Amino acid sequence: MKTLKVALLGAGNVGSQVARILLEDADALAARTGARLELVGIAVRNVDAPRDVQAPRELYTTDASALVRGADIVIELMGGIEPARTLILEAIEHGATVVTGNKALLAVDGPTLYEKADAAGVQLSYEAAVAGAIPILRPITDSLAGDKITRVMGIVNGTTNFILDAMDSTGAEFSDALAEATRLGYAEADPTADVEGHDAAAKGAILASLAFHTRFALEDVNCQGITAVTAGDISSAKDAGYVIKLLAIAEKLDGGVSVRVHPTLIPREHPLGAVRGAFNAVFVEAESAGELMFYGRGAGGSPTASAVMGDVVSAARRLVLGGPGRTDSTIEVLPVLPIDAVTTRYYIGMDAADQPGVLSKIAALFADNGVSIETMRQTVHRDENENGGPATAELRIVTHRASEAALAATVEAIKGLDIINSVTSVLRVEGV
Ligand code: NAP
Repeated sequence: MKTLKVALLGAGNVGSQVARILLEDADALAARTGARLELVGIAVRNVDAPRDVQAPRELYTTDASALVRGADIVIELMGGIEPARTLILEAIEHGATVVTGNKALLAVDGPTLYEKADAAGVQLSYEAAVAGAIPILRPITDSLAGDKITRVMGIVNGTTNFILDAMDSTGAEFSDALAEATRLGYAEADPTADVEGHDAAAKGAILASLAFHTRFALEDVNCQGITAVTAGDISSAKDAGYVIKLLAIAEKLDGGVSVRVHPTLIPREHPLGAVRGAFNAVFVEAESAGELMFYGRGAGGSPTASAVMGDVVSAARRLVLGGPGRTDSTIEVLPVLPIDAVTTRYYIGMDAADQPGVLSKIAALFADNGVSIETMRQTVHRDENENGGPATAELRIVTHRASEAALAATVEAIKGLDIINSVTSVLRVEGV
């Protein structure tokens, strides 16, 4: 039986679990791939640090570069940009197959790495970079390769889903839900990449690239995070039968593709509406297959190691059988459409004076800007301390499909009305 030399870069949360599987399940992996996967070394910063998983001491090294040069398969699980980038390029130069879960690196420099791998005829796989354990990239590139994907909508960041879910179930404000997520270890000390949507955008770019056979980069993704979502937005959405989720959306439209990340109202009965806590899910719409949903754990050492090992087994099989390394195709060059090209339904929340004629003035502004109202709800709040003083009306409007430009013009016009105290939220609605 052929032996394939496997170099592991990193033995942290994910790498240590990958080492465990390679060592514990060596016989099963050999039976499944037709080759023995020999773990020839594990590159770390500190060879003496305590590890979650026991691996022979002599496997650990700080010389990642030497390890890469002698390997058939290089598994990069260090994270960060450097030295991961240089090591992956070195691996490609030496003709090694590369498996990585490094979404941050793919977001910054993915196109260079894909091109180098293509030019060298080696396979670069990264199933673990999107939605942790969930098999989603291979279904898109392989299982749906004979279909035409029209839209992908994903909850691909567990931290933000945990926060929004906590706000939805407890009524907490964003800052309190973030504090709870940090306390429970779902949010990092610096949660910026998660709550501002950057992590979801990196994954959105990967999903869009594979779904639409065109390379999209992080800067192609229109990105809005969840920091401005309030407890009021969540409860208003809930009253109207919606739940707010941070979605990464890649959508084929006339003339191109829209890739965007934003907090979105979806009906509570939509499959994505049932994704609770830190779980992830990706909802795919394809011409022939119709609607598909992939659900599971988006992070964690063992779950992510499962996705990494799927790539390793697939790579090993190919190395045994021979044949081309690429599984994705970039046969198209579809333009990225500006956010203005997207029409969605919108949810608008506003505080207005409770007086006759308010609704008709607001409705007239919508009509003037060509935005059609689907539902309008009004709740009147009376300040009891003011003995019948001025009451305010909380208005919640859901529109039919409208362009960003028409909606923005409507909102600007509404803000100019003297009967409007504030426009409290403007969010997109999907999945209806
Ligand atoms: P981690 O726990 O921080 O582990 C990183 C490992 O890499 C450590 O063993 C560290 O060595 C080693 N390392 C870092 N810099 C190094 C350097 N310059 N030279 C040699 N070794 C170096 O990271 P992780 O959570 O396992 O994540 C690994 C990758 O998987 C990241 O790209 C991450 O984005 C991706 N990923 C993670 C998850 C998850 O749930 N954790 C989910 C999806 C994708 P020491 O141990 O000696 O410090």
